[in-house]
Amino acid sequence: MENKITLKGKIIIKGKIKTKTGLHIGGTAETLKIGGSDNPVIRDKNGRVFIPGSSLKGKIRSLLEIKDGKYKYNNGEAQPCNCGEKDCYICMLFGPHKSDNIKEPSRVIVRDAYLDLPDGKTVYDHLETKPENVIDRVKGTAQHPRFIERVVAGSEFNYEVVFNIYKEKDKELIKKFIEGMKLLEDDYLGGSGSRGYGKIKFEKLKAIYKPKEYYEGDMDKMVEKPEIDDLDELIKLINEINF
Ligand SMILES: [Zn+2]
Repeated sequence: MENKITLKGKIIIKGKIKTKTGLHIGGTAETLKIGGSDNPVIRDKNGRVFIPGSSLKGKIRSLLEIKDGKYKYNNGEAQPCNCGEKDCYICMLFGPHKSDNIKEPSRVIVRDAYLDLPDGKTVYDHLETKPENVIDRVKGTAQHPRFIERVVAGSEFNYEVVFNIYKEKDKELIKKFIEGMKLLEDDYLGGSGSRGYGKIKFEKLKAIYKPKEYYEGDMDKMVEKPEIDDLDELIKLINEINF
């Protein structure tokens, strides 16, 4: 059976991710040389601090999967939903995971979120190194502390998500994704969440609708909603967009 797919338009959500507590998303061995800590935060090759889009997407996906009983563990490894059912919003939203049934391209693109540096601030104004004691569980004594680099509370990252709209009912998928953003605000991003790290809030949110006609040259067709700070308000704004 042949399935055609036609783009109706794109919805873009832009805003800030504000850190409410220190945030640590670990870097790789490459970035180890740059920072003075045992455990630096992730940077790109130009030293810019960012939250990888894949981390955000993966976290939101797994929170939604846990909420709806689609999260599985296999030999200690988390397994993304692979049900392949036609009405599974996880598979439709985030793309098929080796599924034979769903061949549609994924609906959501999550951009890397870079640390915002306004008013001549440098990255070092937004970083701190925190000693974390590691307890020897046998002796019950503290070992040498590890030094964890964190993005300080009150920092902002530039957030952008793009949704490809193929069908009218794709609006429901966008609302599901925003549900995942709500779950993330009451969960944590990055490492050491149980120690209080990684509480974030989405702020200064904007929803923009660019229908197919916009890309064909009819710029007036773009719909831009006013800025808001609340995810429930964002769901209402998405509901108001007609496509
Ligand atoms: Zn599924």
